[in-house]
Amino acid sequence: MPEPRYKRVLLKLSGEVLCGDLGHGIDPEILNGLAQEIKKIQSLGVEMGVVIGGGNIFRGVAGAAKGMDRTPADYMGMMATIINALALQDAFERNGIHTRVMSALHIQQVAEPYIGRRAKRHLEKGRVVILAAGTGNPFFTTDTAASLRAIEIGAEILLKATKVDGVYDQDPVKHKGAKMFTRLRYLDVLKRELKVMDATATSLCMDNQMPMIVFNMTKRGNIQKVILGEKIGTLVTGEKHD
Ligand code: UDP
Repeated sequence: MPEPRYKRVLLKLSGEVLCGDLGHGIDPEILNGLAQEIKKIQSLGVEMGVVIGGGNIFRGVAGAAKGMDRTPADYMGMMATIINALALQDAFERNGIHTRVMSALHIQQVAEPYIGRRAKRHLEKGRVVILAAGTGNPFFTTDTAASLRAIEIGAEILLKATKVDGVYDQDPVKHKGAKMFTRLRYLDVLKRELKVMDATATSLCMDNQMPMIVFNMTKRGNIQKVILGEKIGTLVTGEKHD
């Protein structure tokens, strides 16, 4: 059996990953494919926390742009992440993966409240911990929640799954000549205003030496490749490098 490079990881999945080509909502086929990938990774003995976004259902900023008050709009966004978390849990469990959903907002009928020490205990027991409702606070993103939870649970790496191969100097969808970085520093992400994640999430990782790999998860098997240490995507660290 291949030896994983990491023992404990935090995987950040944006809500958009779940809708695939539908553009909105949840595609059961994507969930199923994802569950099969996670099952393989679990069999390698890797402990995994998953922070799920909500952008496939609702984003607070989008509501605010249409005139809503930002705070209730953000709570709606957080609730969207709970819907996604339950969909993930359902798909994972049907594929024989033991899971727990832990939520930063209290919704006891469907999820445990998030308690860091308890989350670690679940991980030690081999359960995939699905972390819902972001940080529980408006004006934040699930990227910030991913950075925070990665640090809290003692993950060795934050894996940010996206629809493109890594971090580029300009939007690769719009610009054909966009160049992908293989390595980057958090400071450069901030200075160059690269669209990796928001400044709060970036600073949190930078200040707490939490490395991150940004990679394409629409290519089957990529999550496992990253965990086995294959050099794909962009590695972002706090370190200086040439
Ligand atoms: N959200 C929030 N606080 C958090 C995390 C998320 O208010 O700590 C809300 C916010 O409105 C956000 C929405 O939940 O737009 C969905 O999260 P996000 O946009 O990060 O999801 P993704 O882009 O990863 O799908």
